[in-house]
Amino acid sequence: MKELRKKPVETPIIAVTGGKGGTGKSTVAVNLAAGLSARGLKVMLVDVDVDGPSCATLLGVRLEGGEEVKTFVPKIEASKCTGCRRCVEICPEHALVGLQGQVPKLFEELCSGCKACQLVCEPKAIENGWKKIGNIYTHRTNGLGLIVGELRPTEPRSPVMARATVMKALEELKTHKYDVAILDTAPGVHNAVAQPLWVADLALAVTEPTPLGTHDLNFILDLARELGLPAEVVLNKADIPGGLREEALRLARERGVEVVAEIPLDTELLRSYMAGEPLVKVNPASPAGRALGALIQKIESRLKGGEV
Ligand code: SF4
Ligand code: SF4
Repeated sequence: MKELRKKPVETPIIAVTGGKGGTGKSTVAVNLAAGLSARGLKVMLVDVDVDGPSCATLLGVRLEGGEEVKTFVPKIEASKCTGCRRCVEICPEHALVGLQGQVPKLFEELCSGCKACQLVCEPKAIENGWKKIGNIYTHRTNGLGLIVGELRPTEPRSPVMARATVMKALEELKTHKYDVAILDTAPGVHNAVAQPLWVADLALAVTEPTPLGTHDLNFILDLARELGLPAEVVLNKADIPGGLREEALRLARERGVEVVAEIPLDTELLRSYMAGEPLVKVNPASPAGRALGALIQKIESRLKGGEV
């Protein structure tokens, strides 16, 4: 499968992902980006968790402006429509409904913008219509660039928005020099998660030692394997009371995946989260700060050695 993925840019891309939600994925991504940036690397952090992006908040960055992301929706010109129903029959989302001889009705919220209806419409009755599905924000500071994709509330098309955010990041990487890009993915194992993994060179799967954490870790490692993407594990809340640390480590071992960091439970991490400042900046000597610092050092030396 590996040949399916082509490296789109020279810059190394690390996707921080993880299956289950709430494992601390964004916290790891933000701390990794801030830590590498503090060590002199030019870093781009990309928030591809488009249903609920949090990287800007965790960095204390206020997002302004933003460019609109639009997708195609069919606009049917009634005077040209013969009511043949070809568009209704081809629509994979069942977004068009109509009887023979009628102008089909569009249920816009179901439309994925694939344009299949337009392609099959012989009388060319379907024109280009557009709808806004979200915004992409770009913020640059010295050494740390931030790109955030945000889906409009009630919009169901997170894979389309995730794709647009990834494309924007690749465009930025082609025009500006960065040493590394860190992509914070959505939780879960679905198309919106696959979009950033598709362009990555390494996946860091952030999990926690709970039944659901280990269960979902298997799925995200399966997805990475299907994409031919090297993956490693970050075990967050590693010492959670009654946790399944040994089981998580055994799972990683059995799958031949390295556990590159174990981050202990630490109230300082929560404090930094609430304050909107990365822990590695405000309290690097705390237990979680030290674990994150060791991870940053490891990734930095691999980046400098060209191993990512
Ligand atoms: S394919 Fe074109 S002509 Fe046929 S029903 Fe759809 S819009 Fe009308
Ligand atoms: S663009 Fe695709 S999903 Fe939308 S109505 Fe046309 S065929 Fe259906």
